[in-house]
Amino acid sequence: INSPPNCGSGSIPEIKTTQQKSFVKNPMSDPHTIDSELLQKLVYDALVWSSLHGLVVGDRNVQRSGSIPGVGLVHAPIALLPYSFPESHWKQACELAPIFNELVDRVSLDGKFLQDTLSRTKKVDAFTSRLLDIHSRMLQIGKKEDIRLGLHRSDYMLDENTNLLLQIELNTISCSFSGLSCLVSELHRSLLSQYKEHLGVDFRRIPKNNSANKFAEVLAKAWMEYNNPSAVVMVVVQPEERNIAIRKTLAEIDAQGKTLSDGTLVVDGETVAVIYFRAGYAPNDYPSESEWKARLLMEKSVAIKCPSISYHLTGTKKVQQELAKPNVLERFLDNKDDIAKLRACFAGLWSLDDSNAVKNAIEQPGAFVMKPQREGGGNNIYGDEVKETLLRLQKEGSEEEAAYILMQRIFPKDFPTLLVREGIYYKEQAISELGIFSAYLRNKEKVIVSDQCGYLMRTKVSSSNEGGVAAGFAVLDSLYLT
Ligand code: ADP
Ligand code: MG
Ligand code: MG
Repeated sequence: INSPPNCGSGSIPEIKTTQQKSFVKNPMSDPHTIDSELLQKLVYDALVWSSLHGLVVGDRNVQRSGSIPGVGLVHAPIALLPYSFPESHWKQACELAPIFNELVDRVSLDGKFLQDTLSRTKKVDAFTSRLLDIHSRMLQIGKKEDIRLGLHRSDYMLDENTNLLLQIELNTISCSFSGLSCLVSELHRSLLSQYKEHLGVDFRRIPKNNSANKFAEVLAKAWMEYNNPSAVVMVVVQPEERNIAIRKTLAEIDAQGKTLSDGTLVVDGETVAVIYFRAGYAPNDYPSESEWKARLLMEKSVAIKCPSISYHLTGTKKVQQELAKPNVLERFLDNKDDIAKLRACFAGLWSLDDSNAVKNAIEQPGAFVMKPQREGGGNNIYGDEVKETLLRLQKEGSEEEAAYILMQRIFPKDFPTLLVREGIYYKEQAISELGIFSAYLRNKEKVIVSDQCGYLMRTKVSSSNEGGVAAGFAVLDSLYLT
C-alpha cells in the first residue's frame, strides 16, 4: 500500500508493538500523547476504513459532486478516537428519548398552545409566520393526522461546573447524520479492536449505534401503516442535495404533485405513503411561493409526514423555552417521574420579555446564548454580541425581540482530541455535544414505536461557538463509556 498523500505529515511506518506500549500511557484521556508513528498508522487505517465503508460525504471541491452519484466523495470529518463519556449520563440521555417522543406528540396535538406560544414570534419572523399559517389552515379545516411519525434528535452537553447533562435543543425536522454517525461508531470500534495492544482499551465500551437502520426500519413501518403496496416513500431535498435517496425538491413537488379527492398525494405519477423532510427547515429552502405551495399541498394530503407541521413547530426554540416554564410540562404529561426527568435536563431558558433575564444577560453576556427560531447551525448569538444586540433591541423598542430566546450558556469540559479533515489530522482542544436519535410512530391510539435509535457525537474545537458538522465547525465522533 502506498502512503496516502496528505495523511498528517510524512509516511506511514511499521509499528513495533513492544516499544509502542511504553509511549502510550492513557491514550483515550490524552490522545496527544500517542506516539506519532502510531498516530500516522491510526489515521491511515481510519481513512482506509472510511473509504471502504462509505463514511464519506460529497466533496464541495468537486463540481459534479452531488449531481452524479459516486463522483466527488471525501471521507467525513471525524475524530480519530472516541470521546470519553460517563456511562451514567449516557444512560440518562437514552432514558429521556421515549419521554421526549411522547412530549412532542402531546404538544403537537395542542394547536392552541403552539399558536399562542409563537404568536409574538409570528409578528417579527416571516419564516415562522409562514409555518404557522399552514398550521392555522390545518386547524381551520380540522385536519387530523391519525398516523404520526417523528424521527427526532435531542442534543445535550455535559456542563462541567454542575456535572449536569443539559439539553441544547430538540430537533424534530431533518435531523442530520443518522446515516453517518453509526459508521463512526463502527470505525472507532474497529480501530480500538485492531489496536487494543497499543491503546489498552476495550472497544466494547463504545455503544453499538444502529441509527441508520433504525430510522429506515421505522420509515418502513410507517409505510406499512399506510397500507398501499404500490405507494412510495418520498424524501424532500434541497436542490443541491449531498444525501442520496429517492428524492424531490419542493419546487418539483409543486410542479409534479397533486392531491386526489380522498387526500391521496400523487407526485410524478407515484402515490406517496410517507414524506421525509430532509429540507424545508430553513428560509432558504423556500425561495419562491412554489415551495410554500408544495409544503401546503403535502400537509393537506393524507400522506404520513415526517414531520407534520405540528411536529415541526413543536421543535422550535420558542416552544422549548415555553415548555421549560413552571407547570407547562404538567399540561402535557401525567407521569411525575417523567416530568422530573425532563426538567432535570432543562437549562435556563428565558423569553426576552423577561426584563430580569435581559438585565442579567446584558451584565454577563458570556453566560448566555441568544437564539432565533432557526435550524441548521450558525444562527446563534454569543458573548459581547449578546449584549450589543439586547441593548440595540431595547433602544429601538422594537418587537424584533420576540424572534429570540435567551438560554443559559453551557460549558462542557474541554479535552485534547485529534480531528481529521480531508486526510489531515489536527491536535486540538475540543468540546462535545451528544445527540440521541429517537423514533415515534403511532396510529390513532396505538403507539407502534417509541425508541432510542442510536446516537451522534459531535466534537468541535473549544474556541468555536457553533457546532455544525456540515457547516464546517465540528467533526463526527462516537463515545467511549467511562
Ligand atoms: P441549531 O438548531 O441551529 O442546531 P442549536 O440550538 O443546536 O441550534 O445551536 C447550535 C450550536 O450552538 C449547538 O450545536 C452548540 O454547539 C451551540 N449552543 C447552542 N446552545 C448552547 C448553549 N446553551 N450553551 C453552549 N453552546 C450552545
Ligand atoms: Mg436544531
Ligand atoms: Mg443543533
